Amino acid sequence: MNYLFANLELVKKVVLTHPFGLIFDVDGTIAEIAPTAEAVKVTPGCQKHLKSLVGRLPLVAAISGRLARVVRQLVGVEGVVYNGNHGLEQWINGKVEVRPEAQSYVAKIAAAIKELGPVLQPLGVTFEDKGAGLVFHYRTLPNRDEVREAILEAISRSPAARPFNIDRARAVIELRPPLEISKGSMLKELIQGYHLKAAVYMGDDVADIDAFDNLQALSQGAEFRGLAIGVVGEETPPEVAERADLLLRGVSEVEAFLGWLDETIPATSP
Ligand SMILES: [Mg+2]
Repeated sequence: MNYLFANLELVKKVVLTHPFGLIFDVDGTIAEIAPTAEAVKVTPGCQKHLKSLVGRLPLVAAISGRLARVVRQLVGVEGVVYNGNHGLEQWINGKVEVRPEAQSYVAKIAAAIKELGPVLQPLGVTFEDKGAGLVFHYRTLPNRDEVREAILEAISRSPAARPFNIDRARAVIELRPPLEISKGSMLKELIQGYHLKAAVYMGDDVADIDAFDNLQALSQGAEFRGLAIGVVGEETPPEVAERADLLLRGVSEVEAFLGWLDETIPATSP
């Protein structure tokens, strides 16, 4: 295993390259997964180090599957760039901006909710309406494998769900618009928009692999150095560890890594 703390010299080279950006997923990365989405909290240690780093780095950004407004509340650090719904929306100048190409999917999601609600809600599945996307939560149910199958089956029979891509994450299923916007494209946009020469991306789930891939593709050239960090635990899909450059074991080690960054990044960047 390519353990991050066993490769600190390499990491140091990347994080001390200027301008360096710190980009991360939220749930399962800087916040422990909880039985319900509402119970998830960013750890105080992560918050403290992010607060301290935000003024010293040209970019500190979160890219989450949650809505940008919710991500901002959850992380609660001023100056972090908040990207929600896998990059379909961004918190900019005090408000949420949804990408124009995602807007036409809002009515289609409403139709999917109408169709799938009567089938899945009696099984205990809860729906999270994300405007241009829809998440099915079933983590707390005792028969969750069965329910997961039922969700996938209902989606495959639903005409309203047909235009959407189906994402299967750690314990949720999600309908997403078939747009070329993802955590990966968002990451690339941030790196280019902030003219970064180096970046770290941390994530724990299948949607993060797309960000790993984009970061690794950008790192092919001599102009940019990126490190894809997989945050792994018992539930982590194996491909997360396979595709990451370096690994951290769980949120507590992410916190330790942020603490190390806090000590390593100079008070004023050159
Ligand atoms: Mg996550």
